[in-house]
Amino acid sequence: MFINIHTHFQLYDANIELVNLNMDSTVKANHYSYGLHPWHLDKTTYEEQLAKLKIVAHEKRCLAIGECGLDKISKTDFDFQTEVFIEQIKIANEINKPLIVHCVKAFNELINCLNLNDNTVPVIVHGYNNNDNIARVLVNQGYYFSFGKALLGYESNAAKAIRIVGRKNFFLETDDSDLSIKYIYKKAAELLGIDEEIIKQQIQSNFETVFKTTL
Ligand SMILES: [Zn+2]
Repeated sequence: MFINIHTHFQLYDANIELVNLNMDSTVKANHYSYGLHPWHLDKTTYEEQLAKLKIVAHEKRCLAIGECGLDKISKTDFDFQTEVFIEQIKIANEINKPLIVHCVKAFNELINCLNLNDNTVPVIVHGYNNNDNIARVLVNQGYYFSFGKALLGYESNAAKAIRIVGRKNFFLETDDSDLSIKYIYKKAAELLGIDEEIIKQQIQSNFETVFKTTL
């Protein structure tokens, strides 16, 4: 079975696609995540959006909160990003659903926010393409990784990181690209030097652990 842990579109290309819905999506996918992205925060509407998130988060098909997180390159004021991220950590912990995290150049702040708010839900750092040292720090925190199109880049950070994070700690995704998740699986198998079937089984088992389900 193929699982795409983070896509912005229902692609009908995997057995499970966790579609990242945005705030104005009206069509709901079979499985989705829902959250306030740090790029699109607005001081005049965020309270209303958080209230909406609290409702949607309870829906059965809403499997995770996100993508949400911290981005030091974004124009959005960082303190404001932090405030809204903390609200989402609280919601995820109240309802006990995983967080899908977007993090750019703010990994220390990410860890602090999660730890200071007593986070206990699984954290999936999506679109991971950072160096080995950061990967090790995140592994020590028990976070999960999701790798996507960066795996395709020759000797990319993602391609190196997937070798060190351990098979129990990762997922694969297509994010906002129109690549096939099958191609990402193939590339991951190649990088790890193992059979694609083993990756499929491992990711299925990782999914069952994180989402407390049996597939
Ligand atoms: Zn995304």
